[in-house]
Amino acid sequence: MKFKQSLSFDDVLLVPKMSDISSRSEIDTSSDLGDGILLSLPIISSPMDTVTENSMTVAMDRSGGLGIIHRYNTIEDQCAIVRDAQEMGASNIGAAIGVSGDYIERARSLKRAGATMLCIDIAHGHHTLMRHALTTLRNTLGHDIHIMAGNVATKKGYEDLVSWGASSVRVGIGGGSICSTRVQTGHGVPTFQSVLDCADSALTGEIPIVADGGIKNSGDIVKAIAAGADAVMIGSLISGTEESPGEKITRDGLVYKEYRGMASSRAQISWRGRVASREGVAALVPYKGPVEGILKSLEAGIKSGLSYTGCRSISKFQATCEMILQTSAGIVESNTHVFSRGLEI
Ligand code: IMP
Repeated sequence: MKFKQSLSFDDVLLVPKMSDISSRSEIDTSSDLGDGILLSLPIISSPMDTVTENSMTVAMDRSGGLGIIHRYNTIEDQCAIVRDAQEMGASNIGAAIGVSGDYIERARSLKRAGATMLCIDIAHGHHTLMRHALTTLRNTLGHDIHIMAGNVATKKGYEDLVSWGASSVRVGIGGGSICSTRVQTGHGVPTFQSVLDCADSALTGEIPIVADGGIKNSGDIVKAIAAGADAVMIGSLISGTEESPGEKITRDGLVYKEYRGMASSRAQISWRGRVASREGVAALVPYKGPVEGILKSLEAGIKSGLSYTGCRSISKFQATCEMILQTSAGIVESNTHVFSRGLEI
């Protein structure tokens, strides 16, 4: 057995290069997913029941990103959320579907309700069920709707999904903050490595890669883009916000909201009434207020990131950037470390 090295976000850093950029306003972070989906901010919200419904979709759209409405309800309920998002003003509206049961009817209904793109959202996307679903959907809906598909962890997975009809591919298995897939099944690939591997394909540039799972901060977004991602998908970073679905919960005077993996026991009980393989966890996360502030801060971080390499666009950045490995001592130095001797104020 040969053991290939596999890198995570924290294993790498970008090397600063000469820059002549004096203001973040000079930097264009737009990314074209194709089929008329042009994001000015390359961030997509996860199709999870504690992340994306109507309000999140509208907020993502207003900030230049994209929201993908989760599929863990009836077709009628999901379509009503799509229509709400449209009435509240979102122009780009993503909607998730599965690969079995009512997915064809769901896809048709969501399209009629106003979804501008679909996302086939399954845990192990490199699967014959995915091949069947993509082929059937293309035969039914044609090619005039963008279909994102995933998740996959390998270049072969990425290339197969593209050959089966995917317009873009979600890349990342087992890296999510609420994910226990690697613990439960022993399977997964660090998201950064998966993106690097997929971006090595001849199809890159033509079929967008969405880095999904484990993104902790804007630095990780910059690294994902450097590795070849066209956009990132985030759950944790925008969980617990005003726009994320769910009630505020007060414990000992502090306010929280629930954020949970769709394969956590709590989520499985609510969407299928029983627990099969438990591959996620549920958490109460601190309430963070409106999502707009978080997205603005991520945007500022991405723009600063591009400026440290001296680039005004994502494509220039991807062609110019240089990455290095860091040691565990480097990781300690990279994180703020003043608090080891003092108190945060
Ligand atoms: P985060 O941004 O690190 O919180 O990761 C969010 C991503 O985790 C989602 O976009 C999904 O790809 C993935 N995910 C959602 N629910 C589960 C789960 O229950 N198990 C494993 N992965 C999950």
